[in-house]
This record gives sequence, C-alpha cells and structure tokens, in this order.
Amino acid sequence: MLIDYHVHTKLCKHAVGEPEEYIEKAIEKGFAEIGFSDHCPMPGDYDPESRMTEPEFPEYLNMIGKLQKKYPEIVIKLGIEVDYFPKYVDYVRKFVGENRFDYVIGAVHFLDSWGIDNEKFVGEYKHRDINEAYNLYFKTVTDAIETKLFDVVAHLDIIKKFGYKPENGYLEIATETLKAIKKNDLCLEVNTSGLRKIAKEVYPNDEILQKVCEMEIPIILGSDSHAPSEMGWYFDETVENLKRIGFKNICSFSGRKRTFVSL
Ligand code: ZN
Ligand code: FE
Ligand code: FE
Ligand code: ZN
Repeated sequence: MLIDYHVHTKLCKHAVGEPEEYIEKAIEKGFAEIGFSDHCPMPGDYDPESRMTEPEFPEYLNMIGKLQKKYPEIVIKLGIEVDYFPKYVDYVRKFVGENRFDYVIGAVHFLDSWGIDNEKFVGEYKHRDINEAYNLYFKTVTDAIETKLFDVVAHLDIIKKFGYKPENGYLEIATETLKAIKKNDLCLEVNTSGLRKIAKEVYPNDEILQKVCEMEIPIILGSDSHAPSEMGWYFDETVENLKRIGFKNICSFSGRKRTFVSL
C-alpha cells in the first residue's frame, strides 16, 4: 500500500496546481493515503517567499478539511513541514502545540543565513569546505531531532542536492544523526525528490538506507511534490529498492501516532 506524505500546496508560493489534482493523481495511482505537508508559517524575516503566512494558515486547515469530505475514496492526512532554526524553536513549539496535525515533518533548510537547498544560494557551496558544511548540516539535523518537536526527519541528506559531496563520503557523519533518530524514536522520510535534482538520488542514499534498515528505524515515503505531476514520484522503483535493501513496512500517521503498513 503506497502513501505519499510530502505534498505541497499553492499556499507556499512555489508550488503549482490545485490540491484536487494531487489527490486525483494519488487515486489514479491507487495510493492508500496522501498527506499534505506544506511549509509552516514562520516569523516574518525567515524565508517569507517560500511559505504561507500565519493569517493564511486557517485556509490550509479549511482546505484539507474540505478535501477530506470531497474525497472519501482516499485517506487524506494533515501534515506540516516545519523548519528547525535555532532562533525560532519556541515559535515552532507553540505552533505545533496549538494544532492537531496527523504528523509533523522536521526539516533543516537553513544553516544561519545559507539556504542550503535553495538555488539562490548555490554559489555558497564553492566558498565552503564541503566536509565542514556536511558536518555542520548533520549536526544541525541532530539538534533538530533533540528538540523532540517532530515525528519525522525530512530529506536527510538534502545537502547533496546540487551535487557537492565530501570526497570520502558522509556515512559516518550521517550515522550520528541516525542514532539520534533511533534514540528519540522518530521516523525517517525516504524522499524521492532528489531524483529530480542534480543529486539524481533519493534522500537519503542507499548506503544510509542500509544502515536505517539495520537500525530498524521506521520510514515514510514522500515525493516532496510541488506540482501534481510529481505526486508519488518514482515510488514504484523506490519501493522495489527499499524491499531489496530489506524494508518490509512504511508508517502511517494519525494524530501523531504511527502504525505500520506493509510495503
Ligand atoms: Zn517547498
Ligand atoms: Fe524541505
Ligand atoms: Fe517539502
Ligand atoms: Zn521539503
């Protein structure tokens, strides 16, 4: 049974299409569930061009409520992609605490003022020691996990998006973060959007996924779609690969409690 839990909406200002189009695509593909996880509102100075505003948030809730009534043939979940940014942890804690999400995906998109997955900032990779950048990024994801604000860790090695990788790989660095995921009993997202980017790989890579499987860390699937055509992006191939690695289940979330669904 397939589930796509990482789907955006027009409210974030950089996704296209009507939410109905994403849902109809999911129905067409025979998915059991679709979950919207749009970018959460943040204080005004934090990346305002990539998210809904706080006053727009009720629209998001209403929209999903209406869609759940309109499409009884598929389970539609209310998720959110929230940013970990040290200065705004309290803001996010309050926001998440005040709302009833089915699941909360935590993501690191900024290292201080550097938007690591944003084309606008891609030049920065040339000015950085890549090894240090990876260390800082994974350390920041570990800090995010330790806040206990999230149910799921998004696109674990998204720092490879534009093709910059440490010469000797980053399995060891990533393993420290996996230990934090395990210790805090979180779930990891297998995000297929990397296949559409220069990285040309799922987030995280197979080497890390192998480790995830050995450590028995639960996973969800997400396409990170910002257009209806991206819904469920390369899920069939990805599921085959996950089975080959040894995964047997993915998670379903309701009211922030997870259950397992066999692949
Ligand atoms: Zn986005
Ligand atoms: Fe993200
Ligand atoms: Fe996303
Ligand atoms: Zn994302």
